[in-house]
Order: sequence, then C-alpha cells, then structure tokens
Amino acid sequence: MPKQITDSYRGLRQYIIIILLVAAAIPLAVIGGSIYYEYRASVREKVTTQLKSIVTHHKESIESFLQEITAAMRVATHLKPLDKIAQTEVLQNVFHSLQREYKHAFEDLGVIDSKGAHLAYIGAYDLLGKNYSDAAWFKEVMDKRVFISDVFLGYRQVPHFVIAVKEGEGKGAWILRATVDAARFGTVVENVRLGHTGEAFIVNKEGYYETRPRMAGDILEKIEPGSLDLAPFDGVKFWEVKDKNGQKVLRAKTWMKDNNWLLIVKQDVDEAFAEVYKTRNMAIALFVIGALLVAVVTFFTTRVLVRKIEKADEQKRALDEQLIESAKLASIGELSAGIAHEINNPLAIIGQEAGWMQDLLKRDDLKGIKEMDDFKDSLREIARQAGQCKEITHKLLSFARKTESVIKNVNINELIEDVIGIVEREAAVNNIEIVRQYDEPLPLIYGDPAQLRQVFLNLLNNATDALKRGGEIKIETGTGEDDSISIKVSDTGVGMPKEILTKIFDPFFTTKPQRKGTGLGLSICHGIIEELGGDITVASQVGKGTTFTINLPLEQKRGET
Ligand code: ADP
Ligand code: MG
Repeated sequence: MPKQITDSYRGLRQYIIIILLVAAAIPLAVIGGSIYYEYRASVREKVTTQLKSIVTHHKESIESFLQEITAAMRVATHLKPLDKIAQTEVLQNVFHSLQREYKHAFEDLGVIDSKGAHLAYIGAYDLLGKNYSDAAWFKEVMDKRVFISDVFLGYRQVPHFVIAVKEGEGKGAWILRATVDAARFGTVVENVRLGHTGEAFIVNKEGYYETRPRMAGDILEKIEPGSLDLAPFDGVKFWEVKDKNGQKVLRAKTWMKDNNWLLIVKQDVDEAFAEVYKTRNMAIALFVIGALLVAVVTFFTTRVLVRKIEKADEQKRALDEQLIESAKLASIGELSAGIAHEINNPLAIIGQEAGWMQDLLKRDDLKGIKEMDDFKDSLREIARQAGQCKEITHKLLSFARKTESVIKNVNINELIEDVIGIVEREAAVNNIEIVRQYDEPLPLIYGDPAQLRQVFLNLLNNATDALKRGGEIKIETGTGEDDSISIKVSDTGVGMPKEILTKIFDPFFTTKPQRKGTGLGLSICHGIIEELGGDITVASQVGKGTTFTINLPLEQKRGET
C-alpha cells in the first residue's frame, strides 16, 4: 500500500484515539475530583469537630482539677484553725491527705500569716521564715480569697504555680498555700490522646509557656512574637500553621481560668487527614487504572476499527477495478456483437453464392471441365466454412447480448452446452476432459439465461483453475425432489480444506494471485441462484476434488409463489 495512504490511516487512528481518550478522561477526572473534594470537606469537618470536642473536654478537666484542689484546700482551712494548722504534724497530715487525694500533684504546702510570713511549711525546699508580702500572688489572694497563679520561679528558682486560699479577715487572716510543679502539671495537660503528632500546652495571657510544648520552647519562655493571637475570645478557634519542618499543623485554642490561660491543642494536618490522603491516593490510583484501561481498550478497538475501514476501502478499490474490467468486457462484447452482426450478412451471401455456384456446376455444358472435382471440393469447403463462421457469429451474438434480466423458460442442458462451447478449447489445451451426463428431456426452468450462463461459466472456470495438471470435469443434470432440477459440476482438482470452504461464497475471497482471481465468481453465482429461489452447495476433499450442486425450482413452482 502506498505510504501516503498508510499515513492517512495512522492519522485517522490517532485522531480517534485522542478524541476517545479526552472524552473518557474528562468525566473521569471531574467525577474523581469532585468526590475527592467532597470527601475532603467532610473529613475536615469531622477532624475539626473532633479537635473542638477534645479541646473543650480537656479544658473542662483541667479546670475541674484546679477547682477540686482549691475546694479541698478550702475545706482544710475551714476545719483547722490557724493555731492548729500551723503545727507541723497537723499540716503534715493535711498535706498527706491532699497528696493521697490528688496523686501527689503538690510540691509542698505552707501556712502564711496576713503579713506574708511563712509560719509552717511541708516540702522539699527551705522556705520557712520567708516573707511573701511582696509576692504578686500574695497580694492577689489577700484581695480575692482564692488565687491560682501563673507559673513563676519564686524563691526556689523552679517553675511552679501557686494555689492559695485565704481564711479569716483582717489581722487574723491567714493563707494556706500549695504549689504545683509546672513540669508535673504539664504531664496532666499533655495527657491528650491525639495520635502521634498531637499535643496540648498552655500559654498565659502575656504569651509565656505555662507547660512545656513538645516541639519548641520551654516553660516560662515567651512564644515567638506574632505566632499567636492573644486577644481573648469565647469558645474554640482553629487555625492552620506551618511548623519549622514545613509540616502543616492544625491548631485549636480556647481560653480558660478566667481568660488567663490559653489552652492550645495541635495536630499535624497530615495525620489528621491521613484518611483523606489515603482516599486521595486511592482515587488517583483508580483514575490511573481507569485511564489505562480506557487507553488500552481505545487503542485496540481503534486498531480493529481502522483495520476494518482499511479493508473496506481495499474492497472498494477492488470492486472499482472489477467494474472497470467488466465495463471493458461489456464494450468489447458490444463491439464483437456489432462485428458479428455486420459479418453475418456477407457470410450469408458467401454461403448463397457458393450454393448457386454448386448448382451451376451441375449444368451439362460445364461437364467437360477438367478440374470439375477440385471445383466441387472447394465450393463444398467454402459453404462448410461459411456455415461454421455463421455458427460462431451466432454464438457470439447470443452470448454478448445485452444482459437485461430477461426471465423466461430455459432448457438447462442446452444452456450448459453453450457454456461448454466457450471453455472447451481451453480445457482441451490443459488436458481436461469434460464429461456430460444430461437427463433428457429435462423440464424447463424459469430464469435469466444470461445470468445462468454466467453461473456455469464461473463454475467451469473455477474447475479449470483447480485442475492444473489436467483431469476431468463432470456435469450432471437431473430432476430433484420438490419439483426442482439439480445440476452438479464436479472436478478432480486440488479440492479445498474446511477453513477455505466456509469462505468461498464471501465476496472478494480468493486464494488466487492478484491478476487471476477477484473472489467475486462464487458470490455472484450465489446471488443469482438465490434470486431464482434455488440454492448452491459445495462439497470438497483436499487432493480429490470438488463438487458444486445447484438446485433450481421449476417454472410452475416459481409461478405459484
Ligand atoms: P476466484 O475464482 O476469483 O478466486 P471465486 O469466488 O470464484 O473467486 O472462488 C473463490 C475461491 O474458492 C477460489 O479462490 C478458490 O480458492 C476456491 N474455489 C472455487 N472453486 C474451486 C474448485 N472447483 N476447486 C478448488 N477451489 C475452488
Ligand atoms: Mg472464480
């Protein structure tokens, strides 16, 4: 096939593939994308709701922890008057029972009078006798009766905070003070379950860490300026930041302890959205697999499609060639018919003249001519040859007659004899013997003689082709069942295997080389016989030969239907 044509099929194929792929990929991507975003939004909501409930819950538990301690200390101050509680053993007892109750949350416990003097102390530091009158927490508790401080260093120079309750009024007032180690409190605060990356910490309103955050900073260090908005608000707020490693972090914050402490809970976005990412990856994988599948299917179907088109085009070309060929044949036929017609008259005249000359030779006055016998022989030969020529022109005329479908009564034996007349000479050259086995008289059938001639010519030509090394072609006619006649054309040629046998009636199926076969012969036969209400079947054996059997209904039967 010329390069240009191959290229155009390749172009067509690429075009179809691209169109199909684009048509398939767009909806796939749109659906996949929208499902993913939809899902992502729903998971984001779930994650924030979860984080919010954790923050709220955590805030409540820290606050209630502090409140309970305060309440317990308040109870202790109610139960014990100052002179009692200032005794070391009594204070010791109170300290122990508080420790028991609150899982050793306290560092120490002290009693301080209204002037700030440390009257009694249980704890690890040497703080007895210190004066707190200048301490911020002292002033606060004297004023408010109950005070929980922020974390500070104090005399001990260790981060801690103070829970203090005041009892009594005026000069008789005194304070019970417990301290909580910031680090230990931190473990309470941090006790939040948020996967591997989640954490919780507290910042006071000036922006100092009250507990130690896991990632950066330490207790009493100031947060990075601008990293956190410290304006008070109600409820829970969320925001997203990038940490030092470029990791996205989802944070939730809420104010507690009368807007003094800001509880912050954070979680890596990656972890919070692990499920989403899993879904996204799955969606991408599905998309890729889907796209691949579509691509493969498209690729193969297009290949099949374009091949079919290519084949159809090829057949069309062959048909065009065939048309040109038959047009050529038709014009040759017309030409020869014309010539035959023109020659007919002179031939008739030659025959008449020869006859007249023969009559003349019979006259008495011509009897003495010496070469009389030679004259007679020549005239006989002229008459005979003219007769033969007439017969040939006759056959030519009847065969090349324009083939409008003319349905009439046909004597099949005679018709077959006509066709044999055409192929006989070539058959003899190829060492092929034609055997006739006619059933006489055969009922007439109803059909188009030109078309029927074509059928038998095709069968005889095929048989001749099959008999490369000579052999026998046998033609049998006879009456069949159901008011029909049957014609068998058998040869002793090469035969056909099954896989060829099933295709021989297909148009353009041929096993012959390009110039020789068009693959149209048998399909034309099939068409003509079907048209006449008959059928054509074949039986063949490789190496032994082939038999085509045609059944044609009789005139009467056809007339009825
Ligand atoms: P063509 O003769 O142009 O090939 P046909 O339609 O007449 O096309 O025949 C189709 C094919 O059937 C042939 O190419 C040949 O292979 C096979 N065939 C037809 N008749 C015979 C036969 N008598 N013996 C063996 N093969 C035959
Ligand atoms: Mg043929």
